[in-house]
Amino acid sequence: MFKAVKIEKDDAGYRAEYADVTQEQLPEGDVTVRISHSTLNYKDGLAITGKSPVVRHFPMVPGIDFAGEVTESSHPDYQAGDWVVLNGWGVGEKHWGGLAQYARVSGDWLVPLPEAFSSRQAMAIGTAGYTAMLCVMKLASLGVTPEKGEVLVTGAAGGVGSVAIALLAQRGYDVVAVSGRPENTDYLLSLGAKEVVGRELFSEPGKPLGKERWAGAVDVVGGHTLANVCATTKYGGAVAACGLAGGMELPATVAPFILRGVTLAGVDSVMCPKAERLQAWQLLANELDADKLESICEEIGLSEVVPYGEAFLKGEVKGRLVVDVN
Ligand code: NDP
Repeated sequence: MFKAVKIEKDDAGYRAEYADVTQEQLPEGDVTVRISHSTLNYKDGLAITGKSPVVRHFPMVPGIDFAGEVTESSHPDYQAGDWVVLNGWGVGEKHWGGLAQYARVSGDWLVPLPEAFSSRQAMAIGTAGYTAMLCVMKLASLGVTPEKGEVLVTGAAGGVGSVAIALLAQRGYDVVAVSGRPENTDYLLSLGAKEVVGRELFSEPGKPLGKERWAGAVDVVGGHTLANVCATTKYGGAVAACGLAGGMELPATVAPFILRGVTLAGVDSVMCPKAERLQAWQLLANELDADKLESICEEIGLSEVVPYGEAFLKGEVKGRLVVDVN
């Protein structure tokens, strides 16, 4: 018997609760992991609250991330005692996930815990931080170098945004943060932003083209914000789009793409190929400042997880939430 967050949907409705489950209930998989830490991401908020159909079948243990120690394995790459990290692959959506004390998954989905990180630090990074690195890698691959000019980060005080600011500043970019919460200005400056601007500058319908300002951008918001970011990106610049915190739609015109050669590049962490994941984790190990990572994260216990689902969707969570599952 062990503890997990469990989501049920039946005649009594949709609900998430802190519950007991047994090892026998774990799904199929060739690696069993005793989880040390997990995290809460925006998508876990959607799963816990049921606000979006993230969970494909019930009962489901949510949690798109975990870090822990292998207890059993028939996978050639892992043996008992190895420390591993999991991000995505539909775990916590269609396969029982990381908000639990144990998980059983395919070894193909795992990456070794980088030596540079404790399992707590790896989960302070989590999918949000690893996606932030994928966005930074995407911008670099599209020629957005620090000399090209300012780089914008939207949803700045959230998980992806906070880590993206720290990573971009570390690489020497001039980072401008977009936030709807002025009370987090000092926090965003401490992560390395050189300027913080209000969310309202981007969230209203704008013109097809605006004054060129950004060499590149990381957008987690979508909607009018993404349209306005593209419209104000400089000639030849690039926007890495990974989120929908402000909406799924993209009310934009093609003007920035066909008149300024702007690239809108999608970033996905869930099905990202293993080689790219390993590269992202290696770069995080090399580049992410441990003190900044600590300042980004807050820790909660597994029994405290459920109410935080709602807080995520209201945009009330600052930085990253690590879950100590034990
Ligand atoms: P968080 O909730 O931690 O951060 C989102 C931030 O967006 C908030 O902190 C807030 O920042 C801002 N925000 C929230 N609501 C609105 C709104 N209505 N309009 C404008 N800004 C808003 O989430 P994460 O950082 O974990 O994830 C961000 C997004 O990225 C989510 O949509 C998530 O699903 C997506 N994502 C996608 C991945 C992928 O593989 N493509 C992987 C990981 C995340 P502030 O208060 O500073 O304004």
